[in-house]
Amino acid sequence: MTDNSTAENITKVRHRIRIAAQIIGRQAQDITLLAVSKTRPAQALRRAWEAGVEQFGENYLREALDKMRLLQDLPLCWHFIGPVQSNKTRAIAEHFTWIHSVDRLKIARRLSEQRPLTLPPLQVCLQVNISAEASKSGVSLEQLPELAAAVSMLPNLNLRGLMAIPAAEPDRARQRQAFAAIRLALEQLQQRHPELDTLSMGMSEDLEAAIAEGATIVRIGTDIFGPRDR
Ligand SMILES: *Cc1c(COP(=O)(O)O)cnc(C)c1O
Repeated sequence: MTDNSTAENITKVRHRIRIAAQIIGRQAQDITLLAVSKTRPAQALRRAWEAGVEQFGENYLREALDKMRLLQDLPLCWHFIGPVQSNKTRAIAEHFTWIHSVDRLKIARRLSEQRPLTLPPLQVCLQVNISAEASKSGVSLEQLPELAAAVSMLPNLNLRGLMAIPAAEPDRARQRQAFAAIRLALEQLQQRHPELDTLSMGMSEDLEAAIAEGATIVRIGTDIFGPRDR
């Protein structure tokens, strides 16, 4: 891709967000664009930043740390969105502002213990696995209330909401059904945890449906940076 195609792509994605918000009567500024930059070189993130993106989502720790080093001169906000192993929690706690992929109490405890006290609490979404989920990660809806209650007690984490990766689905109405189930799960949690305010859902193919069901963070990779090499 040429250098300015990233900027053009971002303009198009922001336009889609604006239209989707307008249709449902929401404010576009209530929806955060998270650029999913896994597998992309630091230069690509720099171009996205020059086009106004400040939030970046990374799936692989080592790759993310390399890019953070190369982009130290920029005030970027980093979100960890990939599967988490126990041996990665310390570096995640030290280097990220957000994590979207917590699905076990053991991981949450480690993140809280390892979060440097010089930093604000780590912002956390619990990854939920609704039926037909594309990812095997995620807490079940049955176990979600217990996990949320426990995570909300951890001192150095700030539980913000839910993340999900529904299976790819071309039909818009079915996309919405999956996102509606996640929204409902958040609404139920909000009865006990009224401070929860985040729904991280929607990717390149389904951001409109996610916004229609209340997404507050959309995670966009392909439609910003182009297709990933397989
Ligand atoms: C790769 C990825 C995305 C972005 O997907 P695109 O289809 O490229 O927009 C979003 N969320 C997660 C968790 C991902 O791993």
